[in-house]
Amino acid sequence: MDESLFFAGVVVSLTGVSLFFFGAFGPVVVGLVLLVAGLASSGSSEEQSEREDGPKGNCPSCGARNAAARESCHYCDEPL
Ligand SMILES: [Zn+2]
Repeated sequence: MDESLFFAGVVVSLTGVSLFFFGAFGPVVVGLVLLVAGLASSGSSEEQSEREDGPKGNCPSCGARNAAARESCHYCDEPL
């Protein structure tokens, strides 16, 4: 499937539907919604990669999860 063609079809369909329901202002609303959706999805993927790198570290001694702000393991008191 060609995703860009599919996406263009979705956009054109949404534009037509929005014109029908909201008049000339409809495509503006659809455009803003798509912009916000795109921003939100790119933001969440960034957030996810940040989560993978992790603000939390595992204790080198016992492997317990610790907040990055901690200087010693909450479980075994090993310095992190
Ligand atoms: Zn530990």
